[in-house]
Amino acid sequence: MTSSDNAQAGCVLAEDVRRYYLDTMGIQVWQSLENPVDDSETDVPASSDVIWQQLEQAVSSCTTCELHTSRTQTVFGVGNKSADLLIIGEAPGRDEDLQGEPFVGRAGQLLNAMLAAIGFQRDQVYIANILKCRPPNNRDPKPEEAAACHSWLQQQIELIQPEVILALGRIAAHQLLNTDQSLAALRGKQHKHAGIPLIVSYHPAYLLRKPIEKRKSWQDLKHVKFLLNSNGRST
Ligand code: SF4
Repeated sequence: MTSSDNAQAGCVLAEDVRRYYLDTMGIQVWQSLENPVDDSETDVPASSDVIWQQLEQAVSSCTTCELHTSRTQTVFGVGNKSADLLIIGEAPGRDEDLQGEPFVGRAGQLLNAMLAAIGFQRDQVYIANILKCRPPNNRDPKPEEAAACHSWLQQQIELIQPEVILALGRIAAHQLLNTDQSLAALRGKQHKHAGIPLIVSYHPAYLLRKPIEKRKSWQDLKHVKFLLNSNGRST
C-alpha cells in the first residue's frame, strides 16, 4: 500500500468511525430530500467489530515508513476494546515482532504483575505501542517513524475512549504529550492527551534493569487507580 493508498484508507475509516459514534449516540445523520438516503447495503453503518477489523487490516499492510521492510509482522495492540485503562508503550521488541503481540516476554510478565497489583487482568485493559513495527536492533523510534504511525494509535484511542491512559517510558510520554521533558519531570503529575487523563511511568523493561524504581512505579499505578475510581469506573 502506498502513502496515498494509506491516506485514502484512513479517510474511509474515519467516515465509518464518525457514523459509528453518531449511531452510538443515537444521532441520525441528516440527509437532504434532494439526495434521498440510499438504503443499499453500503449505507449501513459499520459495527465496532468491522471498524476494528478494517483498522487492523490497514495497519497490517502499512508501508508508510521504512520499518515495514524489516518487520516480521505488525503489532497492532491487544485487549479489551472498551477498556477504561489504555496502556501505551514504545515499540515492539524481538519477542513482540515474532508473536505479533505487545508486551510479551519478561517485560510483559512484569506488566501483568503491575496490572494485577491494581486489580486488573491483562485482558481487562488495552495495550498498544507508539509504533506498530519493530525498529531494527530495538533502537529508539525515529521522530518521523513515530509521526508516521501516530494516526493508527490515534484511531485506536478514539475507538476505545479510555478513562485513563498510562504512558510507559520516555518515548511514549514524549510522543503523546509532545514534549521532551525528562521522565522524572513528567512522573507524579496528571497530564492530558486528547482530553483524556494521562499518567507517565517507567517502562517495565527499564524496571527489570532498575528494580529499585519499582517503588516509584507503584506510586504511579496507585495514581492511575485513583483516577479510575474517582471517575466511578474501576475493575
Ligand atoms: Fe506503518 Fe507504523 Fe509500521 Fe511505520 S511503524 S510501517 S507507520 S505501521
